[in-house]
Amino acid sequence: MTGYLRVPDPGDGLRLHLNENTAGCSPRVIEAIRALSATDASFYPDYTAVYEDTAAHLGVPTSRLLLVNGLDEGLHLASFATLRDASGAPAEAVVIEPAFDMYAACAEGAGGRVVTVAPRADFSFPTDETLAALTDRTRLVFLTNPNNPTGQPVPREAIERIAGAAPAALVLLDEAYVEFSGDTMIDGDALDRHPNLVVGRTFAKAYGLAALRVGALVARAETLEPIRRLAPPYSLNVCAAVALRAAIADGDRLRWYQDQVARSKALVYAACDRLGLAYWPSAANFVLVRVGERASELVAGLARRRIFIRDRSGEPGCAGCVRITTGVVEHTEACLEAMEAVLCDEA
Ligand SMILES: *Cc1c(COP(=O)(O)O)cnc(C)c1O
Repeated sequence: MTGYLRVPDPGDGLRLHLNENTAGCSPRVIEAIRALSATDASFYPDYTAVYEDTAAHLGVPTSRLLLVNGLDEGLHLASFATLRDASGAPAEAVVIEPAFDMYAACAEGAGGRVVTVAPRADFSFPTDETLAALTDRTRLVFLTNPNNPTGQPVPREAIERIAGAAPAALVLLDEAYVEFSGDTMIDGDALDRHPNLVVGRTFAKAYGLAALRVGALVARAETLEPIRRLAPPYSLNVCAAVALRAAIADGDRLRWYQDQVARSKALVYAACDRLGLAYWPSAANFVLVRVGERASELVAGLARRRIFIRDRSGEPGCAGCVRITTGVVEHTEACLEAMEAVLCDEA
């Protein structure tokens, strides 16, 4: 059984390995946490305001929202709700590779069997291959739009076809990077048409709240009900609850970061073109780059300069690939300068 391999903290330096917001969260978040009183800490939190604000922000009624302690908790809850009490043959969870490690860890932890779908060479979404992987034992399908680590989109009609073809399964659509792709299934009537669709969100990436742990699941009220029943009643601590309200209220901060990400990605593409490296134009805040045989040497060379990127060579379809977080332009420039030094000067 595989678990999520927590990446060791590299210490001081430039963290471009976990897709975090390296500019930090909105200053309003810190103000909101500072404003908490002694009894705010000693009383179990009331979630009325954070549910109302977040639901309004997402454009859904509060009955369609479940706030969780990071989307990771949402993945756990969805896995336990769908896979745990399989009588007879184990319930199956479909994972399209390369995928976020937590999917397999959660599905196996909940007693399910993971069925993987192999990636295509160009990382375009394998719709037919995914449909072919569905069986009468499929209870959960993990989709990630845009994908991590490839940054590639999943077409809307692929999501709808899969949801339609697996009525007995929950389709967990992980939209961790939606603030960069702009492509969501929450808007419109997709949730009404697909009672088995659950959209996952996190405020860890674009909003910079990774350490505070706050995510969300969005689905029809009846779909969320079995998941809500499993969720701890006070899954969000009071700091996360006030932080979330402050973060989503600061639209300027988000737009600034989205612009930084767009400019950083353009810089990475230009550098790759110069260096003759293949890459996949990304809909997220990171870029997967094929460095080839020197991938681990590059990661180590950058680490010596205290710049951390993620070696993804071991992932299916990702031989020779590294993933670089593309956030703050200044940080991207520092990374690219160091990359050119490692790949050229030390050749
Ligand atoms: C980072 C990430 C998450 C985890 O989000 P948390 O809210 O920090 O738990 C989930 N899914 C994907 C695809 C991610 O990249």
